[in-house]
Amino acid sequence: MHEYSLVQSLVGRVEAEAHSRKATAVHRLVVSVGELAGLDPELFQTAYDTFRAGTICERATLEMRRVPARWSCTACGREIARGEVLTCPACQLPARLAPGGDEILLETIEMEVP
Ligand SMILES: [Zn+2]
Repeated sequence: MHEYSLVQSLVGRVEAEAHSRKATAVHRLVVSVGELAGLDPELFQTAYDTFRAGTICERATLEMRRVPARWSCTACGREIARGEVLTCPACQLPARLAPGGDEILLETIEMEVP
């Protein structure tokens, strides 16, 4: 299950981070989820709720921020509208997906450091 292994690596990273800062608890996580990351937010939440028991994330809420997919021209920066051919009409160059559009990024960890 895709979401489950993602949650596993997410919690692993949070635990490593909390450990290195000697945190005693984690309160909140913010994860940005790209529109093209292929993640089902509901499944991800369910997987998180299942997996976090017994980990440092046990009481940490999970917040997901959706990042829409956006393309722009690498040469002139023109934004290519959704649904159009992904080539810049001015430069005839292939457009590039803006960062975050196909990624899952751990943005914020709120933790308690004594
Ligand atoms: Zn261009």
